[in-house]
Amino acid sequence: MTLRIVLLGAPGAGKGTQAQRLAAAHGLVHISTGDMFRAHLKQGTELGQRVQNYLNSGRLVPDDLTCAIVTDRLVQPDCAQGYILDGFPRSAPQAEALDAFFADNGQKLDVAVDIAVADEDIVDRLSARRSCPACGAIYNLKYGPSKRGGLCDRENCSGELILRDDDREETIRKRLQVYHQTTAPVIGYYGNQGILKTVDATGLTPDDVFARIEEILCGLKGA
Ligand code: AMP
Repeated sequence: MTLRIVLLGAPGAGKGTQAQRLAAAHGLVHISTGDMFRAHLKQGTELGQRVQNYLNSGRLVPDDLTCAIVTDRLVQPDCAQGYILDGFPRSAPQAEALDAFFADNGQKLDVAVDIAVADEDIVDRLSARRSCPACGAIYNLKYGPSKRGGLCDRENCSGELILRDDDREETIRKRLQVYHQTTAPVIGYYGNQGILKTVDATGLTPDDVFARIEEILCGLKGA
């Protein structure tokens, strides 16, 4: 069965982790707009330069740029086997643009899964996150610290762990505010279409959340 899934949820709700696991389990292409923008930033492309300020301040990249990068990706041949959208759509116009793409290409979305986590839990989680700038490893002071304190404990690394700018408390709060203003209407949009499923992830481990999403997908196959 070809699955097309949208994962919704605030920054830090665990969309990326779940999207990776779901992609591996179901042979789906994982499309993360955040990862795509960060890759452009790293490579210093023209698009990277245009989106830099938005990413660094936690604001949304304008809809036209974002929709173009996604629809360009969705027409690639590997997407024919199904995909999981992580971090898109994040505004009502983006959701409408995605529906217009589906209408033009004879496709439809199977389900939108909202991973719901309380804001205070998210601030708590992300402000305790530490990243290794050398190898990209992610730690959490509370839930998964490095065994070597402020240094990365991956073999042959020993990078000095940092708090990423966008994981600072004031940036997290800004991103949550943006989320509630512009992304929450997307939840209503899919609710109205009857394809929204909510997983209340407060207090759940990533394994528990994954199991809940798998149950939802099983329900779709049986439908
Ligand atoms: P993420 O890793 O998904 O939290 O995305 C990181 C940043 O990329 C966001 O804070 C936005 O600046 C930008 N971004 C990612 N996805 C979108 C989107 N669908 N619409 C607009 N901006 C986005």
